[in-house]
Amino acid sequence: MITDTHVHFDPFAAAGEVDAIVNRAAVAGVTRMIAIGGNPAANRLAVRLAKKFPQQIRAVVGFDRDQAKASPSREELAALAKEPEVVGIGETGLDYYYEPENSMEQQALLSEMLALARGRKLPVILHNRDSDEDMLRMLREHAAAWKGESDRIGVLHCYTGGIEMAKTLLDLGFFISFSGIVTFRNAESLRQVAEIVPADRILVETDSPFLAPVPMRGKTNEPAFVAHVVELVAKLRNISAAEFAEQTSRNAARLFALPI
Ligand SMILES: [Zn+2]
Repeated sequence: MITDTHVHFDPFAAAGEVDAIVNRAAVAGVTRMIAIGGNPAANRLAVRLAKKFPQQIRAVVGFDRDQAKASPSREELAALAKEPEVVGIGETGLDYYYEPENSMEQQALLSEMLALARGRKLPVILHNRDSDEDMLRMLREHAAAWKGESDRIGVLHCYTGGIEMAKTLLDLGFFISFSGIVTFRNAESLRQVAEIVPADRILVETDSPFLAPVPMRGKTNEPAFVAHVVELVAKLRNISAAEFAEQTSRNAARLFALPI
């Protein structure tokens, strides 16, 4: 049993491929997927799919940094966040690589999402690129104000940062999730991080439809391919793929409060 903790179903839904994707995932042993929101349409879709596939799919809703310049409905998000299928807030975060010019607006939106996560006592799913300093400052404040369960504060998804950043995040109680990037030839320093994350704090994901892992590079990524991430990281950590799949699924179950 493998859990893909980060899937954007939007393009699959648009192409009418969700059923096929869920079936291929099951064949590959990927029995659970977290459908990630980030804008009003993606949030609605995530909840709709979680209702349609109650065994396989749970939903995460929120506003991502690209919504910082828009003004999506807060009322709708607050209502969606109360749906029983919703297990987290996100994805949300900071990205100064693509949009350094609106860093203040991104921080304001992230701050709002962190407050929503605290209010609902739900884990936050975070994106971070070229914004380590501001991200850590905001997460320290979030961790200090967090009243939920200590191992349900959140996850830094598709981790690409360094070892020091990872250690700080772990100290604050966060999980770290690895995507197909860890399989890329030039990702040696990221593989070093994947070796040191404690067994009870590591997760895997595809970030479908992006970033297909080796040996699927160039294809549209899909949840079934997370098995390749499991295989590679298990090897780095000197455990069997089956054991690592079980470990990361148990971690996902804890973070998102899913039945074991
Ligand atoms: Zn994502």
